Amino acid sequence: MRQNATVRIDQARCIGSGQCVLAAPDVFDQSDDDGLGLVLIAEPPAELLPAVRDAVDRCPAQVVTLEE
Ligand code: SF4
Repeated sequence: MRQNATVRIDQARCIGSGQCVLAAPDVFDQSDDDGLGLVLIAEPPAELLPAVRDAVDRCPAQVVTLEE
C-alpha cells in the first residue's frame, strides 16, 4: 500500500491570505485568533489531493507543502 500524502503549513511564514482555504476548504481553515492557515486533514484522501495541489500553487507565501 502506498503511503498517505501529508500536507503541512509552515505557520511561522504564513501571511494569513486564506488562499489555501479557498482552494481546499475541506483540508484547510484559518485560525479565528490570528488568521493563520490551519491544516484540518493532515493526510487527505486521494480525491482531495487536486485541491491541495491547487492550494500549494496558490499560497502566496509558498508555505503549503504536500508530500506524496
Ligand atoms: S494560502 Fe498560504 S499564506 Fe495564505 S493562509 Fe494559507 S498557508 Fe497562509
